[in-house]
Amino acid sequence: MRQRLTRASSLFWVAALLAAPAVADLSPVERDIVAAVAAEARAHVELLERIVNINSGTMNADGVKEVGSVLSGVFERHGLQTHWVDLPPSADRAGHLVANATPQNGKDVPNILLIGHLDTVFELDSPFQRFEYLPGNRARGPGVTDMKGGNVVIVAAVAALAHAGASGDVNLSIVMTGDEERPGRPIPVSRKALLDAGRNADYILGLENNINLTSATVARRGSSGWKLEVKGVRGHSSQVFSDRLGAGAIFEASRILDAFYGQVRGERYLTFNPGVILGGTAVEYDARNSRGDAFGKTNVVAQDVVVRGGLRFITEDQKKRARERMRQIVRTNLPQTEATITFTDGYPAMPPSEGNLALFEQLSAVSVDLGEGPLSQVDPGRRGAADISFVGRLAPSLAGLGPVRQQSAC
Ligand SMILES: [Zn+2]
Repeated sequence: MRQRLTRASSLFWVAALLAAPAVADLSPVERDIVAAVAAEARAHVELLERIVNINSGTMNADGVKEVGSVLSGVFERHGLQTHWVDLPPSADRAGHLVANATPQNGKDVPNILLIGHLDTVFELDSPFQRFEYLPGNRARGPGVTDMKGGNVVIVAAVAALAHAGASGDVNLSIVMTGDEERPGRPIPVSRKALLDAGRNADYILGLENNINLTSATVARRGSSGWKLEVKGVRGHSSQVFSDRLGAGAIFEASRILDAFYGQVRGERYLTFNPGVILGGTAVEYDARNSRGDAFGKTNVVAQDVVVRGGLRFITEDQKKRARERMRQIVRTNLPQTEATITFTDGYPAMPPSEGNLALFEQLSAVSVDLGEGPLSQVDPGRRGAADISFVGRLAPSLAGLGPVRQQSAC
């Protein structure tokens, strides 16, 4: 995996967006902000190097807290108040960093929530641990774009606003979660700090990696899970299709999956996928490790089937409609079989609301003013779920404002 650092421009975007609504030309304050970002670029990359070299795999609580303490030190130097949010021991996660900049002069200014996360998918036992400069303006390292680079973009924005004397023009809330890659449970507990901040926000910006420098994310799909369990009557296969044995569990599971494919599929951004299936006379599924055992014989009508799958959606409404259609299909069964489907919620969707689209237009205008050209919207089909999905419905939101990730063949 090779991850490319952005040119300074995505720093400009965020800082400039925070400072002022779109204007035809840069104001003196905006020019100061742009200059401050450029002047500090090397220091920001060094900060990135420092925090990338601290392992902060989600389950390495000490490392997550250490990254948080480096960043809280930086925020405090720029006049922000910070605190650490602990989670209950049962959640088994490090906690979150929260920072706030409240204007001294009591001005009524918008509250902007900036979302980062301190953890990465690279745990202590990963071979990928060090920051490394690459030719040109690129670097690689664990979490460089997902999302320590985005955290540094937030730092750069805060620093540039302070330098330009514009800190008083926004009311900043920053939440950097310590468990974005594997959220602690239950979700309402592990996401409480984020939700609290979201409820107070007028605008929400997520600084996770971008796919290029001229786009932003107005919508992300939500993800959820489902489990299909089918029961049949066990008996000798010579009697399959008889009144007593009926179709068997495997035929019924096949009917259901085929009907999902034929009748539920087709809506834009709606996808669902059976990831694992076990069927036979006896099945045992181990959900924790996503594996299992099945026993069956060719001359015995199957008694049990378990299917586990995922479902991605662009709105809650789409999710509900898809689930209802799946339930209907599961309700009427082949002879002598019965089936149940259960759904579990994961990440909610961040739909492309009018507020998000208006904010996108504003950011695009800023990009034009900065000489970077208009922006395009990232196809939600290309993005996974993220922390911003938990709060995106609370205020106009944009995601993917961080550094650019460049995948190379490896
Ligand atoms: Zn991430």
